[in-house]
Amino acid sequence: MAELEARLPADCIQLDRDVIDTYSQDRAIFEGRGSASVLVMPRDTAQVVAAVEAANAADVPIVPRGAGTGLTGAANAVDGCMMMSLHRMNQILEIDTANRLCRVQPGVINADLKVEVTKQNLFYPPDPASVDMSSIGGNVATNAGGLCCVKYGVTRDYVMDLEVVMADGRVMHTGRKTIKSTTGLDLTGLFVGSEGILGIVTEITLKLVPAPDEPSTAVAYFDELKPAGDAIVELFRQGLEPSVMEIIDQACLRQVEAVYPMELDIDAACLLLIQTEGDGSADAIEQIAKICRANGSSFVYHVNDPAEGDMLIEVRRKVWPAFETLGKAMLPEDVAVRREHLPELLAGITDIAERYDVALPTLGHAGDGNMHPLLVFDENDPDEVARVQSAFRDIIALSLSLGGTIAAEHGVGTLKRQFIEDELDPVQLEVQRSIRQLLDPDGRFNPGKAL
Ligand SMILES: Cc1cc2nc3c(=O)[nH]c(=O)nc-3n(C[C@H](O)[C@H](O)[C@H](O)COP(=O)(O)OP(=O)(O)OC[C@H]3O[C@@H](n4cnc5c(N)ncnc54)[C@H](O)[C@@H]3O)c2cc1C
Repeated sequence: MAELEARLPADCIQLDRDVIDTYSQDRAIFEGRGSASVLVMPRDTAQVVAAVEAANAADVPIVPRGAGTGLTGAANAVDGCMMMSLHRMNQILEIDTANRLCRVQPGVINADLKVEVTKQNLFYPPDPASVDMSSIGGNVATNAGGLCCVKYGVTRDYVMDLEVVMADGRVMHTGRKTIKSTTGLDLTGLFVGSEGILGIVTEITLKLVPAPDEPSTAVAYFDELKPAGDAIVELFRQGLEPSVMEIIDQACLRQVEAVYPMELDIDAACLLLIQTEGDGSADAIEQIAKICRANGSSFVYHVNDPAEGDMLIEVRRKVWPAFETLGKAMLPEDVAVRREHLPELLAGITDIAERYDVALPTLGHAGDGNMHPLLVFDENDPDEVARVQSAFRDIIALSLSLGGTIAAEHGVGTLKRQFIEDELDPVQLEVQRSIRQLLDPDGRFNPGKAL
């Protein structure tokens, strides 16, 4: 502690137990957290360096934290650690319209950045559903996805350069601020999605794109899941490029309708929500509607009016709040398969729900093959908790059996660490662990997470 106090202003150090605990865990429900010894809240890179040096001198681990909206325990304290919250480093440092990039500190909230770049007629696409709460630093460290990733890609596709404080306190830039660069290895890609285990991100340079035109929107109900999956595959085969392509199953439709009546078809097996934008978006949405009909959709409706489109997309936004009204625990899964395996994934999820007698409403980014089966349960019922945990494991095994991934956009944290060897081959795992060891030989950053 003396080391810290010697290096940092007093108002950057928090020792109050309640405050430390408040900053010591993310939104994961089953993941335990340790007891941190101190909370550090730096205002700039120099203070991050000072804190890392103090942690080295005292030999304590550091757990970086953005806004704590993670769903995997990745930002949870480990015993005796220094929690480092980057929330005060929340400045947008530059918006460069000529080169279409911006420089931000890690604590900037995603939605705040979107608002500022929109004023320059630019767009920062990655849009996790936590857009109003999560930080860009956390988005970078988890490689966050979202609704419009089907067209625009995930966070990784927008990161040009990171300023990183390394375990020995040196400050490194991982990339460039030029649109092109082929010099050296791609260290930026290495740090994106690294869940705080390789270094503390203190500045981020992001690519921006021109603000999109207003979207056209379609909704399509299906009486079975398979034809919906077939329609998704077919529209990509025909070269169409949706900017949103979401699926909501019957259980979600029923819960949304029960809480927010909006005349949804609650007998349908699922609903697809699709948007297109840019030149020819009205033609594209019409073509998509035709493909849905040709693949057996029971009802298709499409509009070009953005306000009406927004109302249709609202169904998707209401799913989580509708289930929250049940007052139960919610564990969102996060698996992804190639698009053509979506029907098998959805059918398998239905089987798992029946096998373990658990509620498993499912929604997801259908265009990315990324599903979020939502385990909704009573956490005070040990029998139900055990069944939920079995269902959770079986969904992961199902995704892997279809050639998919165990962690599409939420990361691994502690929640999925035990499954990582089931996905990564031994050689890849060894190389990854060697890189971690090289960059952080003393295991200073976020021990017990991700790898
Ligand atoms: C309601 C809800 C909806 C969500 N929807 C989505 C979604 O659609 N898509 C999606 O991808 N995720 C979603 N998430 C998950 C979560 O919001 C994302 O993982 C988000 O990127 C986490 O950002 P954060 O700022 O809260 O980071 P935190 O939870 O604080 O931290 C996440 C990880 O990043 C590390 N970290 C944070 N800042 C830094 C830094 N500066 N340097 C190094 N490491 C750092 C932490 O150590 C931890 O490993 C959702 C969460 C909620 C609660």
